[in-house]
Amino acid sequence: MTIEGRCMKCKENKPMKDAEMHKTSRGGFMAKGKCTACGCGMCRIMSKDNAEKAVTDGEAKKAY
Ligand SMILES: [Zn+2]
Repeated sequence: MTIEGRCMKCKENKPMKDAEMHKTSRGGFMAKGKCTACGCGMCRIMSKDNAEKAVTDGEAKKAY
């Protein structure tokens, strides 16, 4: 599974690189990374299941 995020610069969903999984103050999960197309910072809200799977699969670095 590749994490995708909404890139504000490309104005479309792009795969995320250098993804890090963060936990929000409300207990949710959020992937933060960079757009593979333009390098812009992007983030994506993740469900707990998807967040843990992304970390397990090595798609995102655990940052919580
Ligand atoms: Zn972009």
